[in-house]
Amino acid sequence: MTLRYDPANGEAFWSAISRIPGCPGIGPDMIIEPMIFESGALYKLPEVLCRAGADPEQHLLVVMDPTSMRRGKESLKPLAIQVLKDAGWKPEKLELKPGPGGQLHTDLDQIGTVKARMNSESAVVSIGSGTVTDITKQACFDFEQKTGSRLTYVACPTANSVGAYTSNVASVFIRGVKRSIPSRLPDALVYDLETLRDAPYAMTVAGAGDMLVGFVTFPDWLIANRLGMDPSYSEFPQTLVGKPDEIFLENAGSIREGSPEGVAVLAKFLAAAVLGISVLHASTPLSGYEHIISHLIDQQAEAQGSPVAMHGTQVILAAMVVGEAYRYFLSDFDPSRVRPDRCYPDENAIKQRIEKTFSHIDPSGGAAAECWSEYRIKLEAWHANRPAFLRFLSGWERVRGEIERFLLPIERIARILTDLGSPLSFDGLEPPVDEARVKFAFMNAPFIRRRVTLGDLLIFLDWDREALWRRVWEGMRAAAGK
Ligand SMILES: [Zn+2]
Repeated sequence: MTLRYDPANGEAFWSAISRIPGCPGIGPDMIIEPMIFESGALYKLPEVLCRAGADPEQHLLVVMDPTSMRRGKESLKPLAIQVLKDAGWKPEKLELKPGPGGQLHTDLDQIGTVKARMNSESAVVSIGSGTVTDITKQACFDFEQKTGSRLTYVACPTANSVGAYTSNVASVFIRGVKRSIPSRLPDALVYDLETLRDAPYAMTVAGAGDMLVGFVTFPDWLIANRLGMDPSYSEFPQTLVGKPDEIFLENAGSIREGSPEGVAVLAKFLAAAVLGISVLHASTPLSGYEHIISHLIDQQAEAQGSPVAMHGTQVILAAMVVGEAYRYFLSDFDPSRVRPDRCYPDENAIKQRIEKTFSHIDPSGGAAAECWSEYRIKLEAWHANRPAFLRFLSGWERVRGEIERFLLPIERIARILTDLGSPLSFDGLEPPVDEARVKFAFMNAPFIRRRVTLGDLLIFLDWDREALWRRVWEGMRAAAGK
C-alpha cells in the first residue's frame, strides 16, 4: 500500500490535496516543488536547486552541523559539497558549532550566525535533521522579514525523525524556553533514500512513533470542537494521511530493514502529515493529550537533571495510554448521570491544586504560575461554552460514533511497534520511565496547556481517574505481554 496522496507526485499532489474537503486553500508560499524521494537523490541536488529558482553563479550557503554522517561507504557531507562543485556551484560551507552543553539547539544565536552569512543574492541548502533545518529555515525567514528578499532554500533531510522539513513553524529556544514560532517552508526537498537509510535507526523509529498518534489526537481534537472550544476542527488532515495503521502494518518490516520502499514510505508519510498541519496552521491534528503527557514526563526528568527519551518513541506509548483511557471512557460514560452544575470546578480550588502539584517539579512556583496562566484561559472557555457541553451530552451517541471512527485498539499499535522494533512499555525506553512518572503526567498534563483533550473532560466530569489509571496501566502491561 502506498499513500493515497503522494507528495512525490508534484503538481498532481498539490491539486489533489487542495480538493480535499476542509482544505483551507494552499497559497503559493505553501507549495514545495519539487519534493523528490529517490535512491541517489543527493546527486540531483544541483538540478533541484535550479528547478527551485537558483543559479550556479549565485552565492550558495550550505548549512550543516559537525556530526559526521555515513552514506553507504562515503561520508555524506563532503560528498554533498563535491556533488555541488562538480556541477559548477561554489558552495560556502557553514558548520554550526554546538553550545556549551555540547548540543546544537535552535536558538537565536545559531539563527543569527546563519543569517550573518546571507546576502540578497544567496541561495541556501541545509543538510541535517530537525535542528539544522529549523535553524536554517528560520534564518531564511528572518532574513526575508528584515530585507524583503526571499532566498531560494532547499532542504536535504538526513533522518526520518521529525516533521521540521515540511513544517512552517520552527521550534526555537527563546530565553531558555522552547517556543513554536512562525517560519517558512523550503522551496524544494531532496529526500535521499541512502542517507535516510543510514541514519541511526532509533531516529527512524521515533519518527514513525510520532506519526502513529492520530488514533487519539483526532478524537481529542473532535472533543475540543464538540465542546465548543476549538472551532478549527477539520477532517482535512485525516483524509490526507489515510489509514496510518494500515500503511505502517504493511511497511513496518521494510522500514526496519531500511529498504528503499520502507524508507520512502515513512519519509512521504512524515512529509504529507506535517504539510497537512502547515496548511491548517495548527499542530492540533497530531498533538493531543499524549503529547502533553510526554512533555510532562520530560519535565519531571529535566527537573532532576536527567536525560529524556526519544520524543516519538515515548509519545506513541503515551498515545497508547490515552487509547486505553478512551476505551474505558467510551464504554462507561453515561451522559444521563452527569449533573452539569457539578462540572464547573471552582477557579481558586484549581489554582491551589496546580500550585501544590507543580511545587514538586519547581519549588520556586514558576512552573505552577506558567501552568495557571495557560489553564485559566481554558477554564474560562469551558465556562463560556456551557451550551455546547449540554449539546455534547444530549448528542453523545453521535459524538461517540465520530470518535470511534478514529480509535484503534492499542493491541494494533503494539503490533506495529513490535514489527518496527520499538519498545512497547515505558521501562523499555532509553532511559526507562517508571509508572509513578507516567501516572503523574497522566493526572496533571491537562493543567500545563490550554489545548483541550480527553484529559480535561475527565477532570470536568470529576471522573474517578485513580481507578481509570489502574485499568489503563493494566491494559498497557497486557499490550506489552507482561
Ligand atoms: Zn511529536
